[in-house]
Parts: sequence; structure tokens; C-alpha cells
Amino acid sequence: MPAEVYALVDVDSMYASVERVFRPDLRSVPVVVLSNNDGCAVARSREAKALGVAMGQPWFQLKNNPRYRSVVALSSNFALYGDFSARMLAVTERHTPFIHPYSIDEQFLRLPADRAGAIAWRLREQIGQWLGLPVSIGIASTKTLAKVATKIAKDRREGVHDLTAASPKSVWQVLDELPVGEVWGIGSRLTARLAGHEVTSAGQLARLDPGWVRRAFTVVVERTVRELAGTPCLPVEQEPSPRRQLMHCRMLGRPVARQDEVADVACAFAQRVAARLRRYGRATNTVCVWLSTGGGFYAGPALSVQATQTLLAPTNAVVPLARAAARLARALWRPGHTFRRVGVMALDLVAEPGQQALWASPAADDAVAAAVDAITARFGRDAIGVGRAGFRQRPVWAMRQERLSPAYTTRWDQLPVVR
Ligand SMILES: [Mg+2]
Repeated sequence: MPAEVYALVDVDSMYASVERVFRPDLRSVPVVVLSNNDGCAVARSREAKALGVAMGQPWFQLKNNPRYRSVVALSSNFALYGDFSARMLAVTERHTPFIHPYSIDEQFLRLPADRAGAIAWRLREQIGQWLGLPVSIGIASTKTLAKVATKIAKDRREGVHDLTAASPKSVWQVLDELPVGEVWGIGSRLTARLAGHEVTSAGQLARLDPGWVRRAFTVVVERTVRELAGTPCLPVEQEPSPRRQLMHCRMLGRPVARQDEVADVACAFAQRVAARLRRYGRATNTVCVWLSTGGGFYAGPALSVQATQTLLAPTNAVVPLARAAARLARALWRPGHTFRRVGVMALDLVAEPGQQALWASPAADDAVAAAVDAITARFGRDAIGVGRAGFRQRPVWAMRQERLSPAYTTRWDQLPVVR
């Protein structure tokens, strides 16, 4: 067994569960949370799912249907959900510094293999007791398998499911029973293509020859195949396209203490978020910034704070997002703390606004965003940006990459030279 394993901590029905913390009367009631302006269901409690409420179902359909009479609908409160997300991070930070927050309610942790199960149970108990949130935790040798383990923990209401404790035979049995479309990163289009090769279960996918998969599909699918078979190979940034939220959250290479530095980091991270939103054709209504001192593993006072800002109109333009993130970070900053982790999250995603949208971002913002995209596509991510992100010299807080090998194949200035 490897010395370290992955654990995925995932809140059960996050939005509905947060609402229930303050409304115990909603405990066993079907709850749905509605999108901005109460348009459609963006989150459903277990009971609401059992009633057949679909993700994205318009509220007017639910409201007038006697079948859903018992359903309680709430407007989304992203400031509240973001705050619980930051509090959850503060709890997990007591157990490990190796955390990759992946979405508002999911965090990947790296844990020592011999204690992972015990830590997971303790963590589940603490998040339940201190925050009032139910979580399911999956443990496995790779992130993709940890996703599978979490699904089992949820489906069987086990709380924690540890695939590293299972025999290889029973792991294969789990994979053989799992539809391929439920594997992390395998969307509906890939599911259809895989069905053409008679691959319908996760087990069949895991047994494919990785080399063939790379040629027939992509290197991303190849990684999924290897991960399912137990070899970790997902880089941190790898993720399926976002539907509900998108975040960029990192441990800094060097902690920052000054207010302007904290704002610089948030400003730079917001630009990463903006670029990815545009790549996926999404826009956000709400920006959330997290600051954390890194928890009990470091000297100095522990602090984990977040703030949320709702934007006037959904946008994916770089300037308004960077401005909002920097402003939030400046407001969150506290003297006497050194911050090690910063996160910028775009919540409440919608399809990119069209040209005629009533509240579309000002044309100037879009023009700037398009110019930034064009320049960074050609000259690299650090070629241009707002604030610190526009400087060529690496800021002090940037991830330590002194030992990074050159981009031999994607940057002209880093081509290997043959003499
Ligand atoms: Mg969840």
C-alpha cells in the first residue's frame, strides 16, 4: 500500500444542509434551493431528489404541481454557503496541510495511509458537531477512485468508505457495477463514444490499454483509465468543466502578510478564474474570496475568513472580477496574520450572456477580456494581466517552481537547443 492516500470530503446536499443548520424544522422535509431570482432548482435535498425534482427544474413547474406540495423552496444564499465552505476548510486544516479545495463543498486531502480512516471519521464527527453539516468521505489510492469511494459512502449512507481497505476483487466488483458515465470527468459525450467501443462500466474503462485510450481519445481520458486502475496521475488543475461553481485556491509559495500583497494574490487568482469561465462559456453572478493562515500546522494565530460579493450582472470579464476579488481581499485582511492559502471562487454560474443581454457587461470590459485572452494564448499566462498579474517578474507569493522544467513543447522561447 502507498504511504499516502487521497480522501475526498464532500458535504451531502450542501446548500440544503446549510439551510437546515438554521432551520431544524426542515430536517426531513424535501428542500430545494433556487438559482438567482428564484428561477430554477440548483440544489436538492435527498428527500427532494427522491420525489423526482430534477436539477435545473424551473420553480414555476414545481410550485403548481400537487406532487411537490411538500417541497420547501429557498432562495440561494451564496454568502452563507461560502462562509460554511471556509469554516469547513478551517476544520480540515487541523488535520492536514495538504488540501485541495475542489468545489464549494468538496476538498481533496492527502493523508497518511495508516491513519486515513481514523482521521476521516474524526473529521466527519467534527464537521457534524461544529458546523452541523453531514459529510461523506471516500478514501482511495487516487483522486478518481476517491470520488468513487465517496459515492459509495453516500449511496450506502456509510459516512466513510475506504477503498484501500477493500480487497482488489471487491474494488473491481465496485467498478464493474458503476456506469461509466458516473466516473469523474466522463461526461455524456464521452459516455456515448465509449459505448461505441462497448465500454459501459467503470471496470471496463479501467481495463482498457492506456496507450490505446490516448490515441483513440485524449490524454485526459488516459489519465482517468490509469487512475481507475490505481495509479495517481491527475495534476492539481485537472478537472471536468464546471457547472455550478469554479474556484482557484492555492497554498502560496511564500506566505503574505501585507494588505496590498493579499489583494495582489486575489486579483491574480481572479484572472485565472475569469480565463477559465470564458473557456467554458460560463459567467458568474457572485465572487467569493477566502483567506486562511493555514491552520494548526503553522506558528501564529489561525484565521480562516471569507467574503462574498454579488455582482450587478453575470460576467466573465477580467476587469470587474479582478476588481471585486481585490476589494474583498483587502476588506478581509487582518494585521498580524500571515496568510498561506488564498481562494477565489466564482459561484452561481450561468451561461455566458449574449450580446443582447439586458445586463451584459459593458462592451469595454468584453474588449479587454478578449484582448487578454488573445495575448495570453500567444505569449503565455503571465504576459499580460491586471495588477500584479501583468508583471513579468514572479511575485514573491507565487508557487515555488524553481525546479520546473521548461515548457519544451509549448513555448518557442523554451525550445530545447541542439548544438
Ligand atoms: Mg456535495
